[in-house]
Amino acid sequence: MSFEEMDVDTIWMDGEFVDWDDAQAHILTHSLHYGTGVFEGARCYDTADGPALFRWDEHLDRLFDSAKVLDHDIDHTREEITEATLTLIREQDLASCYIRPLVYYGYNNLGVSPEECPSRTMVACWPWGAYLGEDAIENGVDVMVSSWRKHASSMIPTNVKATGPYLNSMLAGEEARRNGYVEAIVLNKEGKVAEGPGENVFMVNDGEIFTTGLSESILDGITRDTVIELARDLGYTVHDEASIGRGELYTADELFFTGTAAEVTPIRSVDDTEIGNGSRGPITEELQQQFFDLVEGQLGGYDGWFLPV
Ligand code: PMP
Repeated sequence: MSFEEMDVDTIWMDGEFVDWDDAQAHILTHSLHYGTGVFEGARCYDTADGPALFRWDEHLDRLFDSAKVLDHDIDHTREEITEATLTLIREQDLASCYIRPLVYYGYNNLGVSPEECPSRTMVACWPWGAYLGEDAIENGVDVMVSSWRKHASSMIPTNVKATGPYLNSMLAGEEARRNGYVEAIVLNKEGKVAEGPGENVFMVNDGEIFTTGLSESILDGITRDTVIELARDLGYTVHDEASIGRGELYTADELFFTGTAAEVTPIRSVDDTEIGNGSRGPITEELQQQFFDLVEGQLGGYDGWFLPV
């Protein structure tokens, strides 16, 4: 769905609420040319107790950590960014939505060094349903292993959510879609499973759960962390430092993606090889159910993860 079709009218930019159509940046903005922004993707869920931001603190932590690595001096406090976000959701009557904060180097000059360019901050919110499609949540997605490799964390830090590195995600995802798949899995420089273009990868074998470790050049996904905790609370053994070879994908009992946008999405085939019986596996379904119950505010014990709007 395009922004034109959405009922949204306001964006917060550098401390001001501006009309959606006036939320413009100069064409010589540093980050537009060199990909030097840092950003987040968070969600507000319409929980049983009303709209609430999910794991907002962790998203803010990651935003400020990313900013630190790219030397951004964010002009706004966590509280200001939080208040701006809550106001955008309230004023636009968005019960559930996706939240996009971005910190970017603005307009001054176009040397590669951003030293003289101001760090700008914006937040926008809009409705965004199932990222890989409603059908994907139930029936799973067909993916291919991309011919693109994930950049190693020694080349571009992978614990940082910066805009430029999403070129890798874009190339891998588009290669997959051009070839008739819904999404890609990207291997790291060593040829081990890294992650999806916007998702972490989980594998289930013999009733135990595996996910690639942070040293495999992946983003430290907040949904990954959520699912690890939910699974452990359900009594599962979770190996969160796994190193997964390409061949192990094909022989897995179950595979699924996690991400703020993708939530918990089953993977039903990799490179045309059916995973398990080619549909959502039972442990994936259980974790997915637990995840959706959680974000809808129906599980007790995780109140600290919600910030009411
Ligand atoms: N890996 C990449 C490359 C991503 O872009 C994302 C989405 N932010 C994830 C993993 C999942 O992270 P999270 O669960 O924090 O959204």
